[in-house]
Amino acid sequence: MQKTIFALATGNQIAALSVIRVSGEDSERILKKLTLKNTPAERILTLRNFYFPDSNKKLIDRCLVVWMPAPRSYTGEDCIEIYSHGGDAVFQAFFSALMSFPNVRYAEQGEFSKRAIINGKTDLVKAEAVNDLINALTEKQRELATSQFNRGLSIPIMKWRKEILRCMSLIEANIDFSDESDTPESVNITHELLILREQVKSAIKNKDYYELVNKGIKVVFKGKPNAGKSSIFNSILKKQKAIVSNTPGTTRDIIEGQINFKGYAINFYDTAGITKTEDNIEREGIRRTRKLLKEADIILNVTEDDNFLPKSQSKKEWLVLNKIDRSKKIKKNLRGKAILVSAKTGEGLEEILLRIHKEAIKKTKSLNDPKNIILNLRQAKELEEAELNITKALEEKSEEIISEHLRQANRSLERIIGTIDVEEVLGNIFSNFCIGK
Ligand code: GDP
Repeated sequence: MQKTIFALATGNQIAALSVIRVSGEDSERILKKLTLKNTPAERILTLRNFYFPDSNKKLIDRCLVVWMPAPRSYTGEDCIEIYSHGGDAVFQAFFSALMSFPNVRYAEQGEFSKRAIINGKTDLVKAEAVNDLINALTEKQRELATSQFNRGLSIPIMKWRKEILRCMSLIEANIDFSDESDTPESVNITHELLILREQVKSAIKNKDYYELVNKGIKVVFKGKPNAGKSSIFNSILKKQKAIVSNTPGTTRDIIEGQINFKGYAINFYDTAGITKTEDNIEREGIRRTRKLLKEADIILNVTEDDNFLPKSQSKKEWLVLNKIDRSKKIKKNLRGKAILVSAKTGEGLEEILLRIHKEAIKKTKSLNDPKNIILNLRQAKELEEAELNITKALEEKSEEIISEHLRQANRSLERIIGTIDVEEVLGNIFSNFCIGK
């Protein structure tokens, strides 16, 4: 028999309230036994005393509880939610009371969502969106997660699945008939598959938006030693109160810091610059810097020499002239060619941020268009697999093999929404879910 699970759904710090979630067949029995009363009305907050089981009414807490019988609950199972007082001792008391039931255990990460998917209450795309919402640090991340939840991928995936299944049934009917005298001419599904492939392809194109919003826009410093890269990096992060961390890289020369600016996460990377060196560790650092420069959304090429501006290597590389506090007058010809800043006085740093923000808005413009399908890397990988199989089906003559490719494409779509291979896919995804979700 499937165990009944429970978990603290709120953070375990000192707080006015905590929510303890219980899900599974034993929920009602637990509720009755701990409150020594009948089950309260469905889905209505009810005040109850909770007692340790078989304790002669030793009180745990007096608090609200809601009873949500299957299937009208998040997991689709019988559920209770206890709105207990916050704090560790209260939870520990509930913990020991709940653990005294033989078929009850503490939930694993994401296990409530896993059960919700298995019971058809939600799908994987939506569960992932909820997880993103919980983890959102910036306004854009929150917006993206909610729109994923509302308009998400699930709808087009269902549509594409239906189309693939229709094509498969046409082909399979043809295979079945092929021994008979009134064999229909070979079916032509090329047109349908071409349209389908186009739609899948255009969705895959959007995979970078998700990363950009959730992981943050990548801004990498480059420039000669002493130009003031670290000073600018530090000033920006200090001024904006870095929200995540200043983690030193694995080598001595890449330092990363993230800020939340006007709703966007921006990651800054301070690099040591690219120099000729015999030192192995330094070489590794340079290899990483090169890779980082390639992946960057924006490169800030910092210089301190107002007589000679380096040439920008690409559109994503912006010139930054630092230490303008040293010159009495800024040469006219420099304006417009470089962002003029002083890490020392802070002048111009806001300008850098505003420009990055503008670029982030430009890069994520498509997110606002409800017609656009946004997907994360896992979903994109499955869609790429589906696209590959549709292409193979288009190139194939044998109907049996076409059918097999379509079956594979369909499996990729099913993995996206979690109708197959649930355990395997969920195991990976839910390892970064929180326990009470
Ligand atoms: P990096 O090697 O490019 O990271 O350069 P640093 O940030 O270590 O700065 C090199 C030197 O320039 C340090 O002595 C800083 O104090 C100085 N410096 C950095 N920014 C400014 C600035 O805006 N004005 C002035 N006057 N000095 C600066």
